[in-house]
Amino acid sequence: VSAVIVFSGGLDSTVALTEATKLHDRVLAVSFNYGQRHRHRELAAARDIARQLGVTHHVVDLGCLAELLPGSSLTDLGIPVPHGHYAAESMQATVVPNRNMIMLSIAAGIAGAHGMEQVITAVHAGDHYVYPDCRPEFMASLDIALNLAFTTAQRPVLDAPYVQLTKAEIVSRGYAMGAPMDLSWSCYEGGARHCGRCGTCVERCSAFEDAGVHDPTLYEDPHYFRTVTEPEPSTTPSGTGGVAT
Ligand SMILES: [Zn+2]
Repeated sequence: VSAVIVFSGGLDSTVALTEATKLHDRVLAVSFNYGQRHRHRELAAARDIARQLGVTHHVVDLGCLAELLPGSSLTDLGIPVPHGHYAAESMQATVVPNRNMIMLSIAAGIAGAHGMEQVITAVHAGDHYVYPDCRPEFMASLDIALNLAFTTAQRPVLDAPYVQLTKAEIVSRGYAMGAPMDLSWSCYEGGARHCGRCGTCVERCSAFEDAGVHDPTLYEDPHYFRTVTEPEPSTTPSGTGGVAT
């Protein structure tokens, strides 16, 4: 089987790419420059990891999207990256509208053009809180849409193997496989080191701790994640006439 994988150079997609190289005969890794503030760190990590795994790697340049998709702290330098728990309401600031759909749509086109059978995305359960286009319902719907968008001969199948896994479970999996997680980059700030405070850094720190695996990452603030707690889920459904407070 052959597969195109959407590969950011982050922790989850590094484990997924490692696993794909073991399962598939032919793997093509595709990364995206969408003008994200951490692109230099993230894309360099992606390049190094792909090289280490011996995988062909392409960067799709959508850098012009940054100015067309303002309002996210990832693409708009005027909006600070929020610190705290990755499930917190404040993490809405990191949403880039329809980002996953945009990337998967392009990856599916590449797969179809090259006669490759699968499109892999490493979305996981921790992404569900904030990013609608990382949820299982979206994945199921996109798979149906792809079924309609291609001729039968070209149609790639969408595979989201980690969609129900926590990041800690992905770390355990990566550790068992010997995935080069030490080379991966998560931090949205894109500084010299991982900041340790942004949502994705907090999730990364917690995942290694929960998995009981040594975290090889250098953080500016390695203990911050212990100070943040998961927010209480909202108990008042919106739109039911409840009194606003
Ligand atoms: Zn960070």
